[in-house]
Amino acid sequence: MKIRYCWRCRMDIPMLDSEEEKIASKLLSEGFQEARKSMKAPIQENFKKLLDYYKEVTGFEETNPNAIMHHFIDMYGPDCENCGKPYRTETATFCPKCGNKRVI
Ligand SMILES: [Zn+2]
Ligand SMILES: [Zn+2]
Repeated sequence: MKIRYCWRCRMDIPMLDSEEEKIASKLLSEGFQEARKSMKAPIQENFKKLLDYYKEVTGFEETNPNAIMHHFIDMYGPDCENCGKPYRTETATFCPKCGNKRVI
């Protein structure tokens, strides 16, 4: 787990590393199966295992499983050399925050 800036949430968020991502993806698909079985159950109930796992790893009480889906470190590029915010993608050539041109 690492705190990184999330471009969608516009705030620093605990993100999951690749090992944690494997577990979270598994729990996420289990959640979808639960959701299919019990359409009427609240989404937090279907994805309880995922939300519990996320809280265990990050200490952050997330209630929206959709948010966790984009909080994987691997989805983003490395930190900008100038301002420290992550590049939006692995192949991004400039930083949208400070305009720094990335040296690849
Ligand atoms: Zn986010
Ligand atoms: Zn930057």
